[in-house]
Parts: sequence; structure tokens; C-alpha cells
Amino acid sequence: MLEKQLLMIPGPTPVPPKVLRELSTPMINHRGVEFSNLMQEILVNLKKVFKTENDIIIYPASGTGAMEASIVNTLSPSDKVLAVSIGAFGDRYAKIASDFGAEVIKCDFEWGEAADVNKIEEILKKEKDIKAVLITHNETSTGVTNPLKEICKIVKKYDVLLLVDAISSLGAIELETDNWQIDCVVAGSQKALMLPPGISFVSISKKAWDYHKNAKMPRHYFDWSSYRKWMEKNQTPYTPALPQLFGLKTSLKILLDEIGLENNFKKHRILRDMLREGVKAIGLELLAKDEFASPSVTAIKTPAGIDVKNLRSIMRVKYNVITAGGQGKLEDKIFRIGHLGFVDKMDIIVTLSALEMSLLEVGYKLEKGASLKKAIEVLKNENI
Ligand SMILES: *Cc1c(COP(=O)(O)O)cnc(C)c1O
Repeated sequence: MLEKQLLMIPGPTPVPPKVLRELSTPMINHRGVEFSNLMQEILVNLKKVFKTENDIIIYPASGTGAMEASIVNTLSPSDKVLAVSIGAFGDRYAKIASDFGAEVIKCDFEWGEAADVNKIEEILKKEKDIKAVLITHNETSTGVTNPLKEICKIVKKYDVLLLVDAISSLGAIELETDNWQIDCVVAGSQKALMLPPGISFVSISKKAWDYHKNAKMPRHYFDWSSYRKWMEKNQTPYTPALPQLFGLKTSLKILLDEIGLENNFKKHRILRDMLREGVKAIGLELLAKDEFASPSVTAIKTPAGIDVKNLRSIMRVKYNVITAGGQGKLEDKIFRIGHLGFVDKMDIIVTLSALEMSLLEVGYKLEKGASLKKAIEVLKNENI
């Protein structure tokens, strides 16, 4: 494999060299003071990223593991839950709940659209005894960011637990766990947090801990009670993923001290706008409307008459730019470009160049350089 590859997929994302070096730190005793100190420092900074005072558990599991943990630790079989879905990952959250025996009421929106808060409220009003609401913050399969703040405001008028999948948003898109009263925020390492895949996170509000007391869904490895016992010592019940935690310590410092969280949100918005305006300028259509367009991933509709697998293959083989395909029912209808984490303005310029050259090769008509011209205009003098 070529070493110089531009990984423009929505996870795993590129990892900064400084973080990569940390991954090869020699192992330490996970029952020693050195580990407790590491964990303590990580948790202080992680809470700043989550904007929370709540407990946070770090699992040696991909994001889906933490999604499962948020459900099995708070609910019992036959509990009624409302699962709001705008794409493949919303469907996954619903499926986990139903696999563990919850009675799932699904609130589906068309793929490419955001959730309509009025429709969510209608269901909350009508259905009695809904215990929890599950929702995706940023739907990676469609490139749509839900208006989470407004949704939280409505959902929190009802006595329900609010579980949010923020795997492709935390760190890249505004999210305020405590101010928006989110009971569990789920995140993963390989998206905006600039780490390799392998660890995931869940924050736990006081209300979520209360639910936990009566939650009867089967669980063992993910059980919060086991974690709670070790929390005071800043340790974990089972062997933690040490290399990931060495890396996390550094990636959090980069995010908070070198880049700054607010600057990072701004960077992601500008990268999104450069890419979206660029592809529009060469006549391509986007799946998501501007209003709900995700700052971390963009879904582009396949132009008529073009074989998208071939297009992506030319981008990869000839220009070393890796993009993602569509998922589920959007396979072949769209392709996706991730622009989250350790990705910058020049990566967008290179991606647009590769896209133009590959499109020309498959016979698509465009004015050479038009997408770049537009992207440069969007960038203007923004200091990102
Ligand atoms: C990537 C992603 C997941 C799944 O995470 P894994 O680490 O692959 O288990 C879930 N939800 C969203 C929104 C994602 O982007």
C-alpha cells in the first residue's frame, strides 16, 4: 500500500503524527498510580470536550459497543423507547434496542432529511410511558446534522431518558451535554477525536444512573456497576486499551489547547462549505440541504450515467484519494467525503482536484478548476 494516501472517509480518519508516536509508548501497569494519573488527566479534558460534569466511561470497543452500553445499562426488556432515525446509524440504534427486547417505536425520516421536532413531540404526547428517546446527532450515512439543541429542548419537557449517538459529531460539531440535558452522549475514537478506531465513550447523567438501578437488560462486559466500583481509583474493571489512552491524552491536548474547541467547530464548517460550494460549481448535486448539512461528512449524488464505483476507484488508484460509498439503500446513489478530525483546507483542495480529474476521465463535462476556484473563494482569508 502507498504510504501517501489521503483518507477522506468519515472514519477511521487520519491520525496526527504526534498521536501516532504516542501509540508506541511502552505498556504500564493498569493497576498502578501511573495509570490512575493518566486516566485522571484524560477524564478532566474529555469532560471539557463533552461539556459535562457527568461521569464518562471509556470502553475498549468500537462506537457501537458504547451505543449498546447506553441501552442495556438503562433499560429493561419490554420498555417502550422512541427511536428517531434519519439514516443507517439511526436504524442501528433502534435495532440494538429491539434486539435487547425493548418495544421500539420508530420515528423515521427520509434519508437526506433532518428529524422534524414537531413530529417527535406528537409521538411523545400521544404515546404513554415512553422511557427513552434515542437519536443520532450527526447521521454519517447521509451527511445530515440533526437540530439537536431544539430536539433536546422539546424531549426534555417529558420525563424520558435522552440517549444521543454523537459518534461522528463530538469534537467537530457543537454539543453541550449538560446545558442540553443529554443523559447519555455516545462517542467514538476514530472520527473527530483524531485517534485510531478501538475505544468509545459514554457519558452518564444522574438520571441515567437512576435508570441504571432498575435496568434489567442482560449485560456483563459493558455493565456500568462494574465500572463504577473502579472509578474512584481512576481505574477500569478490565484491562484498558493502553495505546489508545496514550494517544487520547495527546489528541485531547491538541483539540483543546492547540486548536481550541470553538475554532475546531468553525474549521469543520468552513471545510464543509468549501467542499459543498466546490462540487456545486461543477454541477454535482448534494443529498442534504444547506440548512442541515453536516460539518463532518458530505454526501454527493452520483451524476446520471456515471458508475460511482468506477469513479471512486479512479480517485483511489490514480490520485490516492479515498472516499466512501453509500450505505444501504443509498449504495451507488451517492458517494461520501469525510472531512472531520485531522483534515484541513488543503485536503479539500486536493480532493476536489482528484474529483475533477476523475470525473473528466469518465466523460463528465465540467469547466476545469471551477470547483477549486469556488472553494478558494469560500476560504477567503479564513484563518483555519
Ligand atoms: C461510525 C459511526 C457509528 C459506528 O461506530 P463503530 O465505531 O463503527 O462501531 C455509529 N454511529 C455513527 C453516527 C457513526 O458515524
